[in-house]
This record gives sequence, C-alpha cells and structure tokens, in this order.
Amino acid sequence: MYKIGIDLGGTKTEGILLDDSLKTVERKRLSTPKDSYEEIIKTVCNLVNDLSSKINDFTLGICTPGAISKKTGFLKNSNTQCLIGKPLKEDLEKKLDKKISIENDANCFAISEATMGIAKNYSFVFGIILGTGVGGGIVIDGKIHHGRTNIAGEWGHQTLHQNGNICYCGKKGCVETYISGPALEKRWEEMTGKHQTLSEIVQNSENSKFLTWKKEFLDNFGTSLANVIDILDPDVVVLGGGLSNIEFLYHEGIQKVYDKVFSDLVDTPILKNSLGDSSGVFGAALLNYD
Ligand SMILES: [Zn+2]
Repeated sequence: MYKIGIDLGGTKTEGILLDDSLKTVERKRLSTPKDSYEEIIKTVCNLVNDLSSKINDFTLGICTPGAISKKTGFLKNSNTQCLIGKPLKEDLEKKLDKKISIENDANCFAISEATMGIAKNYSFVFGIILGTGVGGGIVIDGKIHHGRTNIAGEWGHQTLHQNGNICYCGKKGCVETYISGPALEKRWEEMTGKHQTLSEIVQNSENSKFLTWKKEFLDNFGTSLANVIDILDPDVVVLGGGLSNIEFLYHEGIQKVYDKVFSDLVDTPILKNSLGDSSGVFGAALLNYD
C-alpha cells in the first residue's frame, strides 16, 4: 500500500509519496496560501491528486500544527490562524472522498523518528519539539498515544514557575515561555539589550551574561524534562525543532535532566533527531502505518 503524507505548515505545504517499503517515490512543495481557508483546502487537494495520479490505492495523513478538538471536531491551537475553528478533517475527507488521519507536528515528529529515524530501535519514544513553541509526542510500540482528550505529551504548557511569564494559553509560567526559541531570545534581550537570534546568542560563549543566560536555560530545560521523565520513563527522548541544533543540550543539558530525575539510575538517551525538517511530512505519511 502506498502512503501519502502532507505537511501543512504556516509558509509551505509539502507532500510525499512513499511505497510500501517506505522509500520516497515523489516529493513536492508548494507555498501555503495566506489567510484563506478555501485556498488551503484547494492546495492540499491538488497536492494529493498530483501525488496519487499514477497509483490506485493509498493511505493519507496530514501533519499540521494544532490539534483536532475532541469536544468540537474542529482544529484548535493552530498558528495558521485561518485554520482555527474549521472542520479541516471533515472538509478534506469530503473533497477527496477518502478517510484521512490528522496529527499535530509534535506527534508526526515522534512517530517519524520512532519508525524510521534515530529512535527506530526503541519501543517507548518521547519526541519533543523545541522551536517557536514547545511540544511533544508519545509513541509506544509504533503507535501514537493520544490520551483521553488528545493532549498527551503537551509538556510545553506544564507550569514551570508559579506566577511566572504570561503564556498565550491563559496560564502563567508555562515551560514554553522559558525554553522556546522566542522566549530565550527575549530573555537575552532583557539581559543585554541586544536583539539576536538564538544561533547568534550561542556564539557568545565567553560572555558572563551568556553564562547566566545559559544556566537559566539549562535549569529550566532540566527541570521540565525531568518532570516528564519521572512520569513516562521513556526508552528514549528525541529532540527536534530549531533548538535541537544547540550542542550543549546533549552534554550539559542531559546532565541537568539527570540531576533532577527521581531515580538513582538515570540513563535515558536524549538524542538529536535524524530526519530534520522532513519529520512532518514523513510522520504524516506514517500515520496509517502498521
Ligand atoms: Zn501555556
């Protein structure tokens, strides 16, 4: 059975066609229409029709930021504003006359790394995205664990500091407001007055303010990830998103996590992803994989 995966992102929409041995047959990329739900639906349908033009039967999965609400069936928490509150799954199924699976980017990340990436030899995988936001997905024996209300793995909105930074979600002190890319850049600007990107900030290794910034970052990273490990005790943690390129997370970061886990034996591997930006599109294709 062929598999088609679509990664519906804020700026680009990418599609992939895999054969049954998971080899890439075809891959296409279009820009995501701005501000028009109807145009986005059209773009996804065109991409699916294009990729499936030479095959008969296939499964179809879509990766998009946000989640389908179990309460309403509509998309929520998406950073592509015009998708919020829309019955994306239902509309696409109607237009394509086909059943589809939709998952958020963190779940797609986790299943892609667990099935064909760095974590393919582990059965219980916690995949985390550290980027514009902080998300996570749990994969157990090749299947995404959704939880009763579809929020399993959402460690980015656990409270890290009571009365801490204000979060868009309406709470205070969420993990995301401390260790997402924008949060870390903002903190650096508060400390130094300099507006720099994360990749510029990490070049300042000799600067004493940098050491303070880094210590705060690592403390927050260590505490929040240790909290998750205490509950899930996964076989492996895989890091994705822009921050997964920060090298010190894989030595000093891991040590901070280990220091805070509630166990005298901690050896959870914390690994860098191997699929990079492709995890969304591969994960989408793998949603129906068994
Ligand atoms: Zn929050």
